[in-house]
Amino acid sequence: MNIMSLTAVELSKKIKAGEVTAVDAVKAALEQIKRVDGEFNCYVTVDEESALKKAEEVQKKIETGELAGPLAGVPAAVKDNMCTEGMLTTCSSKILYNFKPAYTAEAVLNLEKAGAVVIGKTNMDEFAMGSTTETSFFGPTRNPWNAEHVPGGSSGGSCAAVALEECAFALGSDTGGSIRQPSSFCGVTGIKPTYGTVSRYGLVAYGSSLDQIGPVAKDVTDCAAVLEAIASYDPKDSTSVKRESYDFTSALTEDVRGLRIGIPKDYFGKGLDTEVKESILKAAKLLEEKGAVVEEFDLSLVEYAIPAYYIIASAEASSNLARFDGVKYGYRTGTYTGLHNMYKKSRSEGFGPEVKRRIMLGSFVLSSGYYDAYYLKALKTKALIKQAFDRAFAEYDVILAPASPTTAPKLGESLGDPIQMYLGDIYTISVNLAGLPGITVPCGADSRGLPIGMQLIGDCFQENKIIRAAYTFEQSRIYERCPAAKAQDRKQERSDGR
Ligand code: GLN
Repeated sequence: MNIMSLTAVELSKKIKAGEVTAVDAVKAALEQIKRVDGEFNCYVTVDEESALKKAEEVQKKIETGELAGPLAGVPAAVKDNMCTEGMLTTCSSKILYNFKPAYTAEAVLNLEKAGAVVIGKTNMDEFAMGSTTETSFFGPTRNPWNAEHVPGGSSGGSCAAVALEECAFALGSDTGGSIRQPSSFCGVTGIKPTYGTVSRYGLVAYGSSLDQIGPVAKDVTDCAAVLEAIASYDPKDSTSVKRESYDFTSALTEDVRGLRIGIPKDYFGKGLDTEVKESILKAAKLLEEKGAVVEEFDLSLVEYAIPAYYIIASAEASSNLARFDGVKYGYRTGTYTGLHNMYKKSRSEGFGPEVKRRIMLGSFVLSSGYYDAYYLKALKTKALIKQAFDRAFAEYDVILAPASPTTAPKLGESLGDPIQMYLGDIYTISVNLAGLPGITVPCGADSRGLPIGMQLIGDCFQENKIIRAAYTFEQSRIYERCPAAKAQDRKQERSDGR
């Protein structure tokens, strides 16, 4: 049996049944990392020793019945912008190349409480700024389906690691699409929950009013189970929300009868790749055949989402990243003359070009004289976008849309033209501006074999509606494994003596 081909929930059942141990599972993940990560570069850090030790502890607790949940003993990966006590947390930046936090992020603690074993930290765009995982100081991650292409970003390492079966599931973060877009490019499933659902305590801040942590996994069932484990009210995060219910797995039912699904006409016009469009509309048809009511509607204002997002996100980033000054964390320049020169040189040498671009843009839009013209206007636009979604959700339960206008571009294609890259975020960022939940599920592939994902968006706190729709859709498809994941089966068969 190839352990890593199982979903997290399937794997934990086998562990509970005594067919495999948590240690076997962690070893299988580590072996797959050794086999393929040299080529794909999904991980920044793999902590073998601590993973095996934790797996042993978890195994004991499973045997005594202390741990019985659906993630017990399952190997997991965490995006490298979530603090892990004693384990490197770099945000894929030179400025944090040696940073070992003194505490663990709340979401990761919640995972560990559920018995998941964190085996390492995944590659990302530097400080989560980017859509391709190419802005990482540690080099790009490659697309699991075709190594000449990008995995998407910024949670590209997490999504590629799941597709390559280098972990059973992973955590990502989503400020403007960083879970949903790379999930689409890598052929996996990812959820960005409603703002405030998962604690941001210990998540290195990018755009604090937009950031959310969420799960990436092989299927909707795993995503719901992981979300259930990580979501919690946390007084340490002032934006954490006390929700009425943290039950997401009861939404895993195959039933969309009467569910009202809206398709924003504006999302299917110019700029959308025809193969992506066909695939998404085919998925909509399928949901309709299963009993959903599918209708087109106008969601105007989308064209203002990109400028509003890049102003707000950069403004918040410029403020959040002020703390990296060569004193408190990470990298400090070798030679300097005086304090200001030390700040300047540490930051100039420690940050990459995309991060510097955002800091400059953010400082500009917040500066006196430009604040009203840009930042305030962007906030007003954000309010209008939220109102447009409120009107839409008065009519519909779920909005169905692409996750990205194209499939994964080739490596190197996006870096030269940042504006073009920003435009690729068109379908994901308004969801963050409005604080809504969104899920990406695989729904097809283009003629080159690159995955296409469909995005389902819900109203605030209505994760269960998108989970139900995504689960129902998923029942009509088989999960496609990428070639490098399948290749491990042959080795497994040989060692099983078949
Ligand atoms: N691509 C977007 C950006 O660069 C979104 C990134 C994210 O969600 N972290 O800001």
